[in-house]
Formats: sequence, C-alpha cells, structure tokens
Amino acid sequence: MKQYAIAIHGGAGTILRSVMTAEKETAYKKGLEDAIIAGETILKAGGNSLDAVEAAIRSLEDNPLFNAGKGAVFTHEGKNEMDASLMEGKTLMAGAVTGVKNIKNPISLAKAVMQKSEHVFMAGEGAMAFAKKINAEMKPDDYFFVQQRYDQLQEALKSDTIVLDHTVDKEKKFGTVGAVALDIQGNLAAGTSTGGMTNKKNGRVGDTPMIGAGTYANNNTCAISCTGHGEFFIRSVVAYDISCLMEYKGLSLKEACEIVVQQKLVKIGGEGGLIALDAKGNIELPFNSEGMYRASKKADNEIYIGIYKG
Ligand code: ASP
Repeated sequence: MKQYAIAIHGGAGTILRSVMTAEKETAYKKGLEDAIIAGETILKAGGNSLDAVEAAIRSLEDNPLFNAGKGAVFTHEGKNEMDASLMEGKTLMAGAVTGVKNIKNPISLAKAVMQKSEHVFMAGEGAMAFAKKINAEMKPDDYFFVQQRYDQLQEALKSDTIVLDHTVDKEKKFGTVGAVALDIQGNLAAGTSTGGMTNKKNGRVGDTPMIGAGTYANNNTCAISCTGHGEFFIRSVVAYDISCLMEYKGLSLKEACEIVVQQKLVKIGGEGGLIALDAKGNIELPFNSEGMYRASKKADNEIYIGIYKG
C-alpha cells in the first residue's frame, strides 16, 4: 500500500509563548489534532485527497479559535466575509469563492464551484446565489460572532490599521486555515479558508481564494496552502512559484520552500508561512514569522503538532 500524508495549518504570525496560557495552547493543539484526524480518517479508508482536505478544513472552520468559518475576523463594516479555495493535483481542477457571508463551510462551497459549476472562481453576490442554488449550509450572523474578534476590530478601528487576524496583547497572528493531502492513489490536493484580515476594507481580496497565490496542487510537483499577509503572497504568487521551482528548475520541495518563504517573501516584507507536500509524501512546514499553528501526519508516523519556532 502506498503511503498517505496530510498536513494542516491554523495560521502564522507573532505567536508569543509569553501571552499563551496552558489552556489556550491545549485548546489549539486539540483543534489541530481533531482536524488532522478528520482528514486522516478519509485517507486511511482509501478516500481521496480532495475529500480529506475538505474534511480537515471543515473541522478548523467549525472551531472558533481559527479565523475561518465560525471565528472569522470582522471587516471594517463589522461583517464576516470569507474566502476559500481548493485544488486537485491530478486534474488541475480548482474551485474558489470570495466575499461570501453566512456560509457555514466556505471550503465546501469552493468544492461545489469546482464540481457543480462551469467556473473556477465566484465572488460576492453571484457566489451567494450559487450557494443558495446548491443548498449550501447557511448560518445566521450571530453564529459567526466571536467577542474576541469583535474586540480586535474595535482596537483596529481606533488606530485605523488593517490587522492580520488576531492581535492579542501584542500577539499578531494570521489564523487562516489550510490543508494539503496525498492519498494512497498518489493524488495531491490543497485547500485554504479564511475570514481575511481584521478591518479589511470593503472588496478587499487576499491570497487565500487565489489559485496560485494561496493555494495550488499539481501531482507533478506539490500541494501548497499559505497563511500570512495576503497582499505579499499575491505579489509573490507563492504557491505556484514553489511548484514552478520544482517543475522548471528541478528543485526539491525543501529547496523551493526555502527560497520562496525565507528569501523572496522576506525580501519584500511578506510575513507568514505555508504547508507543503510533494507526491513522494515529503512534508515541509516553513514560516518566516514567530510561529505557525501546524500539524502533520503520515500513515506510519505519530501526529506532529507545532506552534512556535524550532
Ligand atoms: N492570507 C490571509 C489573507 O491575507 C490572512 C491569513 O493568512 O490569516 O487574507
């Protein structure tokens, strides 16, 4: 039997041990573990990587600790507007949504765009009309309300800064979630989901729903899901750049990640990280910020969970 593998992230940023309580750390680790198990259960049963990515991300979207689905950050206007995308490495099929509201699991809506529409990327009102047509699960505004996120918006409004997800006692964190998976058939998939950035202006779109920037998968190279300051990730076309370095320059996954995350992004001031998996099951979890919530699991190994550097 071929090996399967899965990796997830719950956001990167200035995650400081000094402001982390033991209870909070345990809750984050449990959230990551639950998501890995949700994805692994599908892979172990011989299911496909796209379904595993969706299951892991749904678990993180349902967890208010992470900035996606329930727990999404607030826009400047005090709304929760979410973005998501996913891609299948075998077919290069992809689906994405941006600026959607009241959708319980934006990643599943992105998957529906891929599988049930003739399009790849749907935005705002049109995406909402599509969601209604396919009976996507909707939730009222108060489902998405998380007091801590609302307080973050009030703080951000005071200084008129656009905050990259939570800012808790100087803790700056991007809480976007993502998953990459390799199934036993040897197929890769990647997905990413987010509420974006606290105090983001009306119409702002980050890297998360952009195929090639925040998400990319190709069986010939790798599967990538990013988290960080979206504007920089868009300008660097991060996910596709890693794939290109592998495809055109013959670099390994590790070498390609190193160049993009630690050199190219750093050079333009792009803070964040990503999870990466190649078709051989190699996993890389690089970031240039203080920390990144991350976890991974291969068929024969224990679950790895990390938060801080090192
Ligand atoms: N990349 C996301 C965005 O810019 C933010 C994040 O990763 O938390 O919308």
